[in-house]
Amino acid sequence: MPYDDSPPSPESASSVSPERRWFARRSGLAVGAAVLAPTALAGWVLVQVTTGAGADDARPPRIVMPAASATDTAAATAPHASGSASASATRGPAKGPLAGRTVVIDPGHNTGNFKHTSEIDQKVDIGTNLKECDTTGTTTNSGYMEAEFTLDVSRRLRAVLEAKGLKVVLTHEADRPWGPCINERARIGNEAAADAVVSVHADGVSEGNRGYHIILPAKVKGGAADTAPIVGPSRDLGERIASNFARTTGSAPANYLGSGTGLVVRDDLGGLNLSTRPKVFIECGNMRDAKDAALLTSPEWRQKAAQGIADGIVGFLGG
Ligand code: ZN
Repeated sequence: MPYDDSPPSPESASSVSPERRWFARRSGLAVGAAVLAPTALAGWVLVQVTTGAGADDARPPRIVMPAASATDTAAATAPHASGSASASATRGPAKGPLAGRTVVIDPGHNTGNFKHTSEIDQKVDIGTNLKECDTTGTTTNSGYMEAEFTLDVSRRLRAVLEAKGLKVVLTHEADRPWGPCINERARIGNEAAADAVVSVHADGVSEGNRGYHIILPAKVKGGAADTAPIVGPSRDLGERIASNFARTTGSAPANYLGSGTGLVVRDDLGGLNLSTRPKVFIECGNMRDAKDAALLTSPEWRQKAAQGIADGIVGFLGG
């Protein structure tokens, strides 16, 4: 889910995010849904006002609880092998506009987050407000974790980009027990002086909601957050990824938000608000929809997804 990389926040504009739902469950907040839904709606309405997004996206969020508890999901999921270093050396000779360029890839969530809810529930400063460090992410109904999906696609994406001579940095490779926090995920892109940053996710909304969408940063300013310089280039990056992703995967833009454009603007994601580099999130599909889940769990489809994202990035960089 969208997520942000961010914690229990609304992952999608038109529904309460899975992260937020997970958070409510994990935190044992009996009034979670009642309290959080209006909060999510308020945030979305703000985006509508500031971006002028379509009215279709302003409908009230639907409350849908996860089919499986976080505990059940964690128990059903095998632990990941530890990855190696997150930063990878450039393998191929960079040429032309790609020479010397750096791409940071952020695999959403972490497969260990389920076991470290107290740590990931800690609030961090995202400039505009405080938000949880990270979230667990969602799963398919059969227990395939979003965090597994995001890391797999990210590694495939890295391979494609490195073959073109780009320097690629992953924010993590499940080589740490939890996190990183959303503010750290943003900082990694900033400190790498990344020419493009993509945070990889899959959504977790109800059955029948299908398709991909790209989340673009809204113009926000507050504390350490000032996205004015990246709003324009991030939209360019996002539009290029959207069109290429559609081409390589055959997937359609999300049918549940974005008014069919596959593009959504959000102001509540720390990973975007704190970024000083062009950055977008991609929600590759809906893990809770059987048809989308069949795609998301296919290695062949994930390779197509990585190729589409890579083609969008390369086009953005002028390659
Ligand atoms: Zn997510």
